[in-house]
Amino acid sequence: MLTVTLAIVSIAILAVTVSSTYAQEQAEVARELFNLYPAYQVPEITTRRFTQKEMLGWLKPLHEQRMFDMTPVGQSAEGRTIWLLKAGQGKTKVMMWSQMHGDEATATMAIVDMMNFLGKRPDHRVAKAIREQLTLLLIPMLNPDGAQRFERRTAQLIDVNRDALRLKTPEAQALKKAWEAHRPEFGFNLHDQDPRTTVGNTKKVSAIALLAPASDESRSDNHVRRPAKQVAATFAAAMQLFIPGHVSKYDDTFEPRAFGDNIQKWGTSTILVESGGWPGDRNKMFLRKLNCVGFLTVLYAIATNTYEQADLQLYEQLLPNTKYIYDLILRNAQLKAANNISSIIVDIGINIDEERDASTGTVNLVGKVTDIGDLSTFTSFEEVDLKGSSVEGVITKIEQRLTMDEIRALSGKK
Ligand SMILES: [Zn+2]
Repeated sequence: MLTVTLAIVSIAILAVTVSSTYAQEQAEVARELFNLYPAYQVPEITTRRFTQKEMLGWLKPLHEQRMFDMTPVGQSAEGRTIWLLKAGQGKTKVMMWSQMHGDEATATMAIVDMMNFLGKRPDHRVAKAIREQLTLLLIPMLNPDGAQRFERRTAQLIDVNRDALRLKTPEAQALKKAWEAHRPEFGFNLHDQDPRTTVGNTKKVSAIALLAPASDESRSDNHVRRPAKQVAATFAAAMQLFIPGHVSKYDDTFEPRAFGDNIQKWGTSTILVESGGWPGDRNKMFLRKLNCVGFLTVLYAIATNTYEQADLQLYEQLLPNTKYIYDLILRNAQLKAANNISSIIVDIGINIDEERDASTGTVNLVGKVTDIGDLSTFTSFEEVDLKGSSVEGVITKIEQRLTMDEIRALSGKK
């Protein structure tokens, strides 16, 4: 009896040791890739607003170096070729598609950086494992027409991620066709979410949100979803090293028209990665780095099969996306909305968005008064305590537009 107990105890200790060794190794890999990033970051990428032509320009030297094959998988509504990049000779196929929403460019930049890592550091153990054990199938920029205008939808005004069933758009057809031709084991569905998303009720901004989407209404686990969760757990563990507390779980309600949900259903273990916000990083350069480090770390885990040892709780326990953040909160402002109304002390939540002038092409920042009242449960990227100063005559209504000069003047009232 004692021997049996001892044996069980030692097996348990062995199991703990194996998983912690795995976790340590993953952390080492992620840290190394993070520290090495300046050596493989593509320096030409300086803004998240870029066209397909620019992206192809960045990929060109890598293509000439024969880092990948390029084949057309379709044409956008406006006639731009949608490209599939194929790299590596391994037996496990991993498909990654980015920018199906034209204004969600973070992962596209990270994919270019990732290819540059494989090109610049071919002898690195991560690059070797990925090339030898995996075949990468990449569609960076599924919606080049949307990217051209930096808009979510396609030139036909369709949200590609609601066209996985009808497949009416050439962009959705291209993704389905690429998937059918390769039937990959793993899929990465890459997006940007509202940068004003928080992690549960922690008031921390969500920099990265992850999801192993449900493939049916019952949200059941199966042999397809479970590996997706293990990979998501690996991703989450790597991110917690650099942005502890800033990783959340995306809403897992099944959306029957979305690609992630369907590709999971078709048998590919699919992970949704949503890049969110980070203070002072409107252009998402830090998030791009996190994406790239995350991709390489989990691809290495897939290539070495070590993702199977991931602690699923690291995924399951991620707090859900919430909305408790504004770009700017003016606290304790004295508001008198009109002459005949008494004044009141309020908090004012203001969001600041980019607006592109279609005629000149210039991008301006424009504020909007989003909420007025008790915002004590909310946080913000910037906060000014007005200590009772009046905003009379300046803020007169909800959803009021504000120029940056007006915002600066308001912030200066303290
Ligand atoms: Zn999206």
